[in-house]
Amino acid sequence: MSADVVVSGDEEVVLYERRERAAIVTMNRPQYRNAQNAKMTYALDAAFARAAADDEVAVIVLAGAGPHFSAGHDIGTPGRDVTKPFPRVATTWWEHADKGGAENLFVREQELYLGMCRRWRGLPKPTVAMVQGACIAGGLALAWTCDLIVAADDAFFSDPVVKMGIPGVEYFAHPFMLNPRIAKELLFTGERLDATRACALGMVNRVVPRARLEEETLALARRIGEMPRFALALAKQAVNQAEDRMGLHDAVDAAYGLHQLAHAHNALSSPDYLAGQTPRTMKDK
Ligand code: ZN
Repeated sequence: MSADVVVSGDEEVVLYERRERAAIVTMNRPQYRNAQNAKMTYALDAAFARAAADDEVAVIVLAGAGPHFSAGHDIGTPGRDVTKPFPRVATTWWEHADKGGAENLFVREQELYLGMCRRWRGLPKPTVAMVQGACIAGGLALAWTCDLIVAADDAFFSDPVVKMGIPGVEYFAHPFMLNPRIAKELLFTGERLDATRACALGMVNRVVPRARLEEETLALARRIGEMPRFALALAKQAVNQAEDRMGLHDAVDAAYGLHQLAHAHNALSSPDYLAGQTPRTMKDK
């Protein structure tokens, strides 16, 4: 493995803590609103695998350090690592970094976004996203891979990537996480869905005051953790299988082709595959 291959460890971009029977996995780039680079993705994967393997862990809580859960994929921090090779864990695709054309992103995002989201959704233990502040695009995909979502009253959800010429974040679960008409509204406007409305629409399980977010989430995790481990895993699998039979898996695959078409179109007709958008130009209001 060459020196610039993405590995976790030398900087704690993800924190791991076990409290009672809950593993708390925390994205830890608060200075960048927990923007996800590949390094963070693999650190998250390692933390989830550790929690899944630990018999003392019943429930996994996914959190974000600082005022925001996650602003999405890293499109402009100093730690952005899109050109670096990384190990392939979620798929058997070949190395992307030395490939050109549409192949580069198609392979990269298949592993890093689609494959990882599916892998984490399939974790055999219940997962709870504990969301405060911004939960945007790639952050939203991450929250959606969790079984339950507890939101602070200051949380907001959005997927503004249509502004980049892209029809939605890679893990295209929108019409399943929301009513299709609301999914269109979210995509067409790029506007924020606040926690109260997200809860009313069934996208989050409960909304709690910001100051009580951790306490309420851990109380929920504790209650879930009292159930038998294997039955929880089976119940989770039963619901996930039903979702896939309702079309989630196929819909995500179909949208992925359109997503990659949009990246290729951007690359052909604008400054780059993100249509020249940056964190600054994407910042709303
Ligand atoms: Zn993409």
